[in-house]
Amino acid sequence: MIKKSSNHINQNEGTIFERSRPGKLGYHLPALDVPAETALDAALLRDDDLAGLPEVSEVDVIRHFTRISTWNYAVDYGMYPLGSCTMKYNPKLNERVSRFDGFAASHPYLPDDLAQGNLELLKRLEDSLAEITGLPGVSLQPAAGAQGEMTGLMVIRACLEARGNARKVVLIPDSAHGTNPASAAVCGYQVKTIKSTAEGAVDLEALRAAANDDVAALMLTNPSTLGLFEENIEEVCKILHDAGGLVYMDGANMNALVGVTRPGDMGVDVIHLNLHKTFSTPHGGGGPGAGPIAVTAELEPFLPVPRVVFDGGQYKLDFNRPQSVGRVRAYHGNYSVLVRALCYIMTLGAEGLREATETAVLNANYIAHHLKDVYELGVAGKAMHEVIFNDKRQQKNGVHTLDIAKRLIDYGFHPMTIYFPLVVPGAMMIEPTESEGRDELDVFIDAMKSIAREAEENPELVKTAPHNTRIGRLDEAAAARKPVLRWKPASQAASV
Ligand SMILES: *Cc1c(COP(=O)(O)O)cnc(C)c1O
Repeated sequence: MIKKSSNHINQNEGTIFERSRPGKLGYHLPALDVPAETALDAALLRDDDLAGLPEVSEVDVIRHFTRISTWNYAVDYGMYPLGSCTMKYNPKLNERVSRFDGFAASHPYLPDDLAQGNLELLKRLEDSLAEITGLPGVSLQPAAGAQGEMTGLMVIRACLEARGNARKVVLIPDSAHGTNPASAAVCGYQVKTIKSTAEGAVDLEALRAAANDDVAALMLTNPSTLGLFEENIEEVCKILHDAGGLVYMDGANMNALVGVTRPGDMGVDVIHLNLHKTFSTPHGGGGPGAGPIAVTAELEPFLPVPRVVFDGGQYKLDFNRPQSVGRVRAYHGNYSVLVRALCYIMTLGAEGLREATETAVLNANYIAHHLKDVYELGVAGKAMHEVIFNDKRQQKNGVHTLDIAKRLIDYGFHPMTIYFPLVVPGAMMIEPTESEGRDELDVFIDAMKSIAREAEENPELVKTAPHNTRIGRLDEAAAARKPVLRWKPASQAASV
C-alpha cells in the first residue's frame, strides 16, 4: 500500500498555503543596491491562517497549479454536451489571431486615422453579421446575449416612441430563455406569457388574442429552448406587425440556422447573436462575450453610438446620431471576441458556415435517433441543434435525471443540461454541436445506453454516482443554503 504522504499525485491536494515552508523562495534576485522598503501598514496585515504569502519554490507552484488544472473538465478534454450553451470546440487559430499585437495592444482611444485596420475589422464583422441575419443595421457593442436583449428592447422602445407610443407590454412564450423576461422588465415593460402548444410551438390563437395596441414586441427564441424551429414564424411576425408591434428574436441558438435561413427574411425586426456560442469564443467560465444586435433599416438610426462608417476613403466613428439610444458599453465592446468571430467567419466562408449548421443539426438528430428507444424524447417535434429526453422510463427504478447526469461523469463526459427547459419535467438537454465527429458521438451514445442498462440492473450504482471522481455526490442543497466560504487547512476541515 502506498503511504498517503509518499503519493505526490494527491487527488485531494490542499491549497498552496499548506505547501508553505518558512524560507522557501520562488525566485532569486541580485542583492539590493538601494535601501529595502518594507513598511506595510500594520492595519493591512492579516493574522489568520492566510497571513502572508505562501513560501514555496517555483516548482511547487508549477506542479500545484498544473495538477489542479487537470481537475477541470474542458472542451479541449472531451465532449461537453451542455444543451442551450453550445459548448463547441473553437479553433485555436482564432485565439491566435485575437492576440496579434495590432488587435490586442492598440488603445481604444487611438484616433481614427491610426486605427484604420481595427475599425475595418468592426465594419467587416458588422457587414458579415448583416448578411448572415438578413438585417442591415448591426451594433457590436453589447457584451453578452442578455445585454443584447436589453439593447434590442431599448431600440424597440425608441422606435415606438418615435412612432408616437412606446407601449407597455412585451409578449414572451413560456418556452423562452429566462433572460428574456428579465430584459423586458429591466426596460420597463410588463411581461405577458404566451402558452406553447403541445408540440412546443407558439400558440397562434393565444398570440392573436394577446396582440393588441398595448404590445410593444414579442420576444421569441428561435429555435426555441425546446430545440424546435418555430415553423409559423412568418405568421407570428405578421400578427405582431398587424397589431403595430415589433418582433425580437433571441438568436442565441443561431448555430442551428446560420447559412441556411435568415431571420430578416422571416420578418424579424431585431435579433441578438451570441458570438461566444455560435462564433468561436470559448465560454462557460464567465469570461468576456459579445451579444451584437442586428436590426431592420427602420430601427438602424436608434442603434448605440458610435457607429463605424466608411466614407469611401477612411473608416470613422460617427457620434452624430441624434436618435441613438446612446452607448451601452465602453469603447468598442469586447474587441477580442469580435476578432475571433470575424476570423471564424472568414476561415469557414459561406459554404463552411452552412456546413457547420447542417452538422450541428445532424449530430443532434443522430443522438436522438440512437437513444430514443432507451430514453423517452421530451418533445415530439423534430430536433434542430439539440435534443431533449426525459427520465420517465428510468423513474420506475427510482433513477432520475440528476442520477443519470452524475453517472455520465464516470464515463468521462461533462453532464448534459438537466431540468431545463422547465416545460419538460426531468429534462435532459443534449447539444453535441458540430465539433464532435461520429466516433465521439458513438462513444457518448454507448455511455448513455450503458447507463440506461445500469438503471435497470443496478439502480443503486446510478443513484450514488459519480464513483470515479475525486469526491462523490455533494449535497447541492446544503452547498447553496449553508455555503462554507472561509478556507480552513485540510487538517481542520470537516470531511467532504
Ligand atoms: C445563452 C442564452 C442567452 C443569454 O446569453 P448570455 O450571453 O449568457 O447573456 C439568452 N438566450 C438564449 C436562448 C441563450 O441560450
